[in-house]
Amino acid sequence: MENTLDIQEYSPIIKSQIWHYEIGNTHGFWFSSTGKPRVVIGPHWMYCLISVLLFTIIFGTLLLFSSYFVPRIMSTISWVAYCTCLTSWLISGLKNPGLELEILTNQQEITKYFNDKKFCRVCEVLREPGTLHCVECDVCIKEKQSHSLIVGKCIGKEIKVPYYILIGSIIFLASYIGFIAVYAIFI
Ligand SMILES: [Zn+2]
Ligand SMILES: [Zn+2]
Repeated sequence: MENTLDIQEYSPIIKSQIWHYEIGNTHGFWFSSTGKPRVVIGPHWMYCLISVLLFTIIFGTLLLFSSYFVPRIMSTISWVAYCTCLTSWLISGLKNPGLELEILTNQQEITKYFNDKKFCRVCEVLREPGTLHCVECDVCIKEKQSHSLIVGKCIGKEIKVPYYILIGSIIFLASYIGFIAVYAIFI
């Protein structure tokens, strides 16, 4: 129990609720024994939800329609890409992107590192190289790539791979639909 991080007392930026914590502008759920959230919903979760719904309906309808006249193998590949896209979207949208939560509580340490570049004055954490503070999420993210509206939060260390798979499969499906449309019109 001694090693268990009591996130409620540990951090000044976290407002307490039993099943859910606000960490900066993000929302954390389902905490591990060390107090770290496994599930993190970003401040722009509404954009994520809307884009997933639009994608599911629009691409689902187009793939269903195209499956009547394309060879079966192409149709199967497109459905595999569609499912891969939705799965990686779900993981990117829900998984903790790598929030930096090792908050300094010792005032001496805070004073020591206050002017150090690796110290974030907002979160009061010491950052590893590559960790950056996001103004939108209002929290430090490990290996922050960018703040993405389609997943509603920052892309960090933990969700880089599913995010790139998501982008790759969207590009693949959009090109596929474009190709089918040109084929249907001109041939
Ligand atoms: Zn920060
Ligand atoms: Zn962000």
